[in-house]
Amino acid sequence: MTKYFQILEKLKEHKVKLLLVSKTHPADRIKVYYDLGQKCFGESKVQELSAKYEELPKDIKWHMIGHLQKNKVKYIVPFVSMIHSVDSLKLLEEINKRAKQNGRIVDVLLQMKIAEEDSKFGLGYDECRELLQSPEFADMENVRVRGLMGMSTFTSDEEVVRNEFQFIKKMFDEVKDEFFKNVDYFTELSIGMSGDYEIAIEEGATMVRIGSVIMGERT
Ligand SMILES: *Cc1c(COP(=O)(O)O)cnc(C)c1O
Repeated sequence: MTKYFQILEKLKEHKVKLLLVSKTHPADRIKVYYDLGQKCFGESKVQELSAKYEELPKDIKWHMIGHLQKNKVKYIVPFVSMIHSVDSLKLLEEINKRAKQNGRIVDVLLQMKIAEEDSKFGLGYDECRELLQSPEFADMENVRVRGLMGMSTFTSDEEVVRNEFQFIKKMFDEVKDEFFKNVDYFTELSIGMSGDYEIAIEEGATMVRIGSVIMGERT
Protein backbone atom coordinates (compact mmCIF):
# COMPACT_ATOMS: atom_id res chain seq x y z
CA MET A 1 0.00 0.00 0.00
CA THR A 2 2.91 2.36 0.69
CA LYS A 3 3.87 2.27 -2.97
CA TYR A 4 0.33 3.27 -3.95
CA PHE A 5 0.43 6.34 -1.72
CA GLN A 6 3.97 7.25 -2.76
CA ILE A 7 3.03 7.15 -6.41
CA LEU A 8 -0.22 9.04 -5.81
CA GLU A 9 1.72 11.78 -4.04
CA LYS A 10 4.17 12.12 -6.88
CA LEU A 11 1.40 12.16 -9.48
CA LYS A 12 -0.51 14.78 -7.55
CA GLU A 13 2.51 17.10 -7.59
CA HIS A 14 2.42 16.97 -11.37
CA LYS A 15 -1.39 16.89 -11.70
CA VAL A 16 -1.23 13.50 -13.42
CA LYS A 17 -4.07 11.00 -13.01
CA LEU A 18 -3.56 7.40 -11.96
CA LEU A 19 -5.23 4.62 -13.85
CA LEU A 20 -4.63 1.56 -11.69
CA VAL A 21 -4.20 -1.45 -13.95
CA SER A 22 -5.97 -4.31 -12.22
CA LYS A 23 -5.87 -7.00 -14.93
CA THR A 24 -5.49 -10.55 -13.59
CA HIS A 25 -6.18 -9.41 -10.02
CA PRO A 26 -9.41 -10.61 -8.42
CA ALA A 27 -12.28 -8.34 -7.44
CA ASP A 28 -11.52 -8.46 -3.71
CA ARG A 29 -8.01 -7.08 -4.34
CA ILE A 30 -9.47 -4.28 -6.44
CA LYS A 31 -11.96 -3.51 -3.68
CA VAL A 32 -9.06 -2.79 -1.30
CA TYR A 33 -7.86 0.06 -3.55
CA TYR A 34 -11.42 1.19 -4.17
CA ASP A 35 -11.89 1.54 -0.41
CA LEU A 36 -8.74 3.67 -0.28
CA GLY A 37 -10.35 6.04 -2.77
CA GLN A 38 -9.13 4.73 -6.12
CA LYS A 39 -11.97 5.01 -8.63
CA CYS A 40 -10.29 4.50 -12.02
CA PHE A 41 -9.16 1.03 -13.03
CA GLY A 42 -7.72 -0.33 -16.27
CA GLU A 43 -8.35 -3.74 -17.76
CA SER A 44 -7.16 -5.28 -20.99
CA LYS A 45 -9.59 -8.12 -21.68
CA VAL A 46 -13.26 -7.71 -22.48
CA GLN A 47 -14.49 -10.74 -20.58
CA GLU A 48 -12.53 -9.94 -17.46
CA LEU A 49 -13.59 -6.31 -17.60
CA SER A 50 -17.28 -7.23 -17.92
CA ALA A 51 -17.11 -9.72 -15.06
CA LYS A 52 -15.45 -7.21 -12.75
CA TYR A 53 -17.92 -4.51 -13.72
CA GLU A 54 -20.75 -6.82 -12.64
CA GLU A 55 -19.09 -7.71 -9.37
CA LEU A 56 -17.73 -4.37 -8.15
CA PRO A 57 -19.30 -1.02 -7.15
CA LYS A 58 -20.94 0.83 -10.00
CA ASP A 59 -19.17 4.13 -9.45
CA ILE A 60 -15.86 2.63 -10.61
CA LYS A 61 -14.61 4.18 -13.83
CA TRP A 62 -13.47 1.30 -16.02
CA HIS A 63 -10.93 1.98 -18.75
CA MET A 64 -10.29 -0.51 -21.53
CA ILE A 65 -6.57 -0.42 -22.29
CA GLY A 66 -5.97 -3.66 -24.21
CA HIS A 67 -6.33 -4.48 -27.87
CA LEU A 68 -10.02 -4.51 -28.71
CA GLN A 69 -11.69 -6.63 -31.35
CA LYS A 70 -14.64 -5.16 -33.18
CA ASN A 71 -16.95 -8.05 -32.35
CA LYS A 72 -16.45 -7.48 -28.62
CA VAL A 73 -17.13 -3.75 -28.55
CA LYS A 74 -20.81 -4.31 -27.81
CA TYR A 75 -20.08 -5.95 -24.46
CA ILE A 76 -18.27 -2.99 -22.93
CA VAL A 77 -19.85 0.05 -24.56
CA PRO A 78 -22.82 0.12 -22.15
CA PHE A 79 -20.61 0.88 -19.16
CA VAL A 80 -17.01 1.65 -20.12
CA SER A 81 -15.62 5.08 -19.15
CA MET A 82 -12.84 5.29 -21.68
CA ILE A 83 -11.32 3.13 -24.39
CA HIS A 84 -7.58 3.80 -24.75
CA SER A 85 -6.89 1.37 -27.54
CA VAL A 86 -8.57 2.71 -30.66
CA ASP A 87 -6.22 1.79 -33.47
CA SER A 88 -8.41 1.89 -36.58
CA LEU A 89 -11.26 3.78 -38.19
CA LYS A 90 -13.28 0.56 -38.40
CA LEU A 91 -13.01 0.02 -34.66
CA LEU A 92 -14.02 3.60 -33.96
CA GLU A 93 -17.02 3.21 -36.29
CA GLU A 94 -18.13 0.15 -34.35
CA ILE A 95 -17.75 1.96 -31.02
CA ASN A 96 -19.76 4.87 -32.40
CA LYS A 97 -22.50 2.56 -33.67
CA ARG A 98 -22.82 0.68 -30.37
CA ALA A 99 -22.64 3.89 -28.36
CA LYS A 100 -25.50 5.28 -30.39
CA GLN A 101 -27.59 2.17 -29.73
CA ASN A 102 -26.93 2.68 -26.02
CA GLY A 103 -27.67 6.39 -26.09
CA ARG A 104 -24.14 7.15 -24.93
CA ILE A 105 -21.17 9.23 -25.97
CA VAL A 106 -18.08 7.15 -25.33
CA ASP A 107 -14.71 8.73 -24.55
CA VAL A 108 -11.79 7.24 -26.46
CA LEU A 109 -8.08 7.74 -27.01
CA LEU A 110 -6.32 7.01 -30.26
CA GLN A 111 -3.53 4.53 -29.69
CA MET A 112 -0.38 5.57 -31.50
CA LYS A 113 2.37 3.20 -32.47
CA ILE A 114 5.47 4.72 -30.92
CA ALA A 115 7.50 1.61 -30.07
CA GLU A 116 9.88 -0.16 -32.39
CA GLU A 117 8.44 -3.58 -31.64
CA ASP A 118 6.11 -5.00 -34.26
CA SER A 119 4.07 -6.66 -31.55
CA LYS A 120 2.58 -3.38 -30.43
CA PHE A 121 -0.60 -2.02 -31.90
CA GLY A 122 -1.34 1.52 -32.89
CA LEU A 123 -1.83 4.09 -35.60
CA GLY A 124 1.04 5.70 -37.45
CA TYR A 125 1.22 9.46 -37.68
CA ASP A 126 -0.27 9.66 -41.18
CA GLU A 127 -2.88 7.06 -40.41
CA CYS A 128 -4.02 9.03 -37.39
CA ARG A 129 -4.40 12.21 -39.42
CA GLU A 130 -6.25 10.35 -42.18
CA LEU A 131 -8.69 8.99 -39.63
CA LEU A 132 -9.38 12.43 -38.22
CA GLN A 133 -9.79 13.91 -41.69
CA SER A 134 -12.15 11.22 -42.92
CA PRO A 135 -15.82 11.94 -43.68
CA GLU A 136 -16.70 8.83 -41.62
CA PHE A 137 -15.14 10.40 -38.55
CA ALA A 138 -16.85 13.71 -39.20
CA ASP A 139 -20.20 11.92 -39.03
CA MET A 140 -19.59 10.22 -35.69
CA GLU A 141 -21.72 11.73 -32.97
CA ASN A 142 -21.36 9.14 -30.24
CA VAL A 143 -17.62 9.05 -29.67
CA ARG A 144 -15.44 11.77 -28.27
CA VAL A 145 -11.69 11.63 -28.92
CA ARG A 146 -10.15 12.76 -25.65
CA GLY A 147 -6.49 12.40 -26.62
CA LEU A 148 -3.74 9.93 -27.45
CA MET A 149 -2.32 6.79 -25.88
CA GLY A 150 1.04 5.12 -26.42
CA MET A 151 3.22 2.29 -25.18
CA SER A 152 6.96 2.63 -25.28
CA THR A 153 9.44 -0.01 -26.35
CA PHE A 154 10.18 -2.58 -23.64
CA THR A 155 13.78 -1.65 -22.92
CA SER A 156 16.01 -0.49 -20.10
CA ASP A 157 17.39 2.23 -22.37
CA GLU A 158 15.79 5.37 -20.94
CA GLU A 159 16.71 7.50 -23.92
CA VAL A 160 14.75 5.28 -26.29
CA VAL A 161 11.68 5.54 -24.06
CA ARG A 162 12.10 9.29 -23.60
CA ASN A 163 12.35 9.83 -27.36
CA GLU A 164 9.18 7.85 -27.94
CA PHE A 165 7.29 9.86 -25.31
CA GLN A 166 8.59 13.12 -26.79
CA PHE A 167 7.43 11.95 -30.19
CA ILE A 168 3.88 11.22 -29.02
CA LYS A 169 3.73 14.50 -27.07
CA LYS A 170 4.67 16.37 -30.23
CA MET A 171 2.04 14.45 -32.13
CA PHE A 172 -0.50 15.26 -29.41
CA ASP A 173 0.23 18.98 -29.70
CA GLU A 174 0.02 18.92 -33.49
CA VAL A 175 -3.18 16.89 -33.62
CA LYS A 176 -4.77 19.14 -31.01
CA ASP A 177 -3.78 22.19 -32.97
CA GLU A 178 -4.99 20.83 -36.28
CA PHE A 179 -8.19 19.00 -35.33
CA PHE A 180 -9.26 19.96 -31.82
CA LYS A 181 -8.32 23.60 -31.52
CA ASN A 182 -11.76 24.82 -30.61
CA VAL A 183 -12.86 22.12 -28.21
CA ASP A 184 -12.08 21.69 -24.53
CA TYR A 185 -12.08 17.88 -24.34
CA PHE A 186 -8.94 16.90 -26.23
CA THR A 187 -6.77 16.92 -23.12
CA GLU A 188 -5.40 13.47 -22.35
CA LEU A 189 -2.02 11.91 -23.03
CA SER A 190 -1.99 8.35 -21.66
CA ILE A 191 1.65 7.27 -21.46
CA GLY A 192 3.72 5.56 -18.79
CA MET A 193 3.52 2.19 -17.03
CA SER A 194 5.29 0.66 -14.03
CA GLY A 195 8.71 0.76 -15.65
CA ASP A 196 8.61 4.19 -17.24
CA TYR A 197 5.96 6.36 -15.57
CA GLU A 198 8.56 8.74 -14.15
CA ILE A 199 9.84 9.53 -17.64
CA ALA A 200 6.24 9.81 -18.87
CA ILE A 201 5.46 12.41 -16.20
CA GLU A 202 8.47 14.45 -17.27
CA GLU A 203 7.41 14.24 -20.91
CA GLY A 204 3.83 15.42 -20.49
CA ALA A 205 1.63 12.50 -19.45
CA THR A 206 -1.77 13.49 -18.07
CA MET A 207 -2.63 9.91 -17.15
CA VAL A 208 -0.34 6.98 -16.34
CA ARG A 209 -1.40 3.32 -16.48
CA ILE A 210 0.30 1.53 -13.62
CA GLY A 211 -0.21 -2.07 -12.55
CA SER A 212 2.52 -4.33 -11.24
CA VAL A 213 4.57 -1.82 -9.28
CA ILE A 214 1.49 -1.10 -7.14
CA MET A 215 -0.61 -4.27 -7.21
CA GLY A 216 2.22 -6.77 -7.50
CA GLU A 217 3.36 -9.09 -10.23
CA ARG A 218 0.71 -10.75 -12.33
CA THR A 219 0.49 -14.52 -12.40
C1 LIG B 1 -0.68 -4.20 -18.44
C2 LIG B 1 -0.70 -2.85 -19.05
C3 LIG B 1 -0.23 -1.73 -18.34
C4 LIG B 1 0.35 -1.80 -16.94
O1 LIG B 1 1.56 -2.49 -16.94
P1 LIG B 1 2.52 -2.52 -15.66
O2 LIG B 1 3.85 -2.71 -16.24
O3 LIG B 1 2.06 -3.65 -14.82
O4 LIG B 1 2.39 -1.22 -14.95
C5 LIG B 1 -0.33 -0.49 -18.95
N1 LIG B 1 -0.83 -0.35 -20.19
C6 LIG B 1 -1.27 -1.39 -20.91
C7 LIG B 1 -1.81 -1.15 -22.27
C8 LIG B 1 -1.22 -2.67 -20.37
O5 LIG B 1 -1.66 -3.70 -21.11
